[in-house]
Amino acid sequence: QTLRHGVNWDKALQLRERERSAFAAARPRSRALSADAAEHLMFGVPLHWMDDWSTPFTLYVEAAQGASIRDVDGFAYTDFCLGDTGAMFGHAPAPVARAIAAQCQRGFTTMLPSPDAPWVAAELSRRFGMDKWQFALSASDANRFAIRWARAITGRDKILVFNGCYHGTVDDVFVDLEGGRPVQRASLLGQVYNLTYHTRVVEFNDLAALKSALAKGDVACVLAEPAMTNIGMVLPEDGYWPAAEALIREAGALLLIDETHTISSGPGGYARAHGMAPDIVVLGKPVAGGVPCAVYGFSADTARRAEAAKRAAPAGHSGIGTTLSANMLAMAAMRANLAEVMTDEAYRTMFGLAGQLAAGLRETIARHGLPWCVTQVGARTEFQFCPVPPKNGSEADAILDSELEQIVHLYLLNRGLLITPFHNMMLVCPDTPPADIARFIAVFDALLLELKG
Ligand code: PMP
Repeated sequence: QTLRHGVNWDKALQLRERERSAFAAARPRSRALSADAAEHLMFGVPLHWMDDWSTPFTLYVEAAQGASIRDVDGFAYTDFCLGDTGAMFGHAPAPVARAIAAQCQRGFTTMLPSPDAPWVAAELSRRFGMDKWQFALSASDANRFAIRWARAITGRDKILVFNGCYHGTVDDVFVDLEGGRPVQRASLLGQVYNLTYHTRVVEFNDLAALKSALAKGDVACVLAEPAMTNIGMVLPEDGYWPAAEALIREAGALLLIDETHTISSGPGGYARAHGMAPDIVVLGKPVAGGVPCAVYGFSADTARRAEAAKRAAPAGHSGIGTTLSANMLAMAAMRANLAEVMTDEAYRTMFGLAGQLAAGLRETIARHGLPWCVTQVGARTEFQFCPVPPKNGSEADAILDSELEQIVHLYLLNRGLLITPFHNMMLVCPDTPPADIARFIAVFDALLLELKG
């Protein structure tokens, strides 16, 4: 028998065929909609990523509420994907739904602020410890704009990222280390500029590499997730960030922390929870409860420098912002979300649930003797196909196995458990029923038994 990540691979392939057939046989409506969609949607989906799930055709959603999703064929799922963080606090939370309904009577977008804007900014400052805020429509945009501000502030052209990172569709960050050399990510479509000219890339948890990449004094900002979450999970080693922050400061670079996923760590993100002092913080996805919105905040000194850079520039297009940024509908949703949904109490509940999930998965993996591990960042949990957690992007990348991931995901999905289609990430929300966490662990146990053959 062929072993792959401790799994009987022949058995895994048989399982895949069985699960695909079971999915297809039970979902005539999703199948019919998929056939209709093929007519006028590229790849048969409105966003080509929606074709990346493990299912043999697209799963169509009828409704999503709290921790659950119902598909068009009447199947219910407990959702551990939660829109890949967009719905981290549950789908359509009632306070956000009410706020949107109320705002609908008062307009959506005017290119002028509503009274929600100063309240939201003050609340963000209280949580994140940053001084001044701006808004965007996606985390990708917020990162793009934050990088532009960092370059304008410092007058430097380089940025530095960590190997294996993802910060949205921001061209500058798609540079990987291959055999120690920076190369543009090959999957990137239509990129005609050589991104390695202006982007440096080093391994996470490698202080010597960071120091040497900063040595020329030409790096505008280091853009980082405080714990990497997009290549599987990679946690910072003890003492890494305090030392890295000192190096970044010493080199006159700005530290731009992207909390879009690590907001799972607490109401003010990972940086606040761990005593970091970033110059700019970005947060997108769940900040307005699932309504498109993103925020980026500046420390007092960085905000002063940003305002000075703008005032010193000629009048005209700044290259920052989009017409619907900070629209009234998103602001109303964000206010309700911050005030009533994304609360300390919600986090306490989520931490308890995620702890239960992580412990159950660890125990199950150990009992089956598989060389897999489990990592947790607050409400976010990940299982990875390696015996000890990876310490950088290269190690994390080496153990990704999308074929095995998809078999696991489809098995779970056919049993009413949805997880993110990329790697093996699971989120819990305040509404996740504890009984469904127990059920997740029981199904995972049955899956491992089958995979061991
Ligand atoms: N930053 C991080 C850390 C992310 O994980 C993502 C998306 N996965 C983004 C930014 C981009 O978010 P969006 O696709 O909503 O722009």
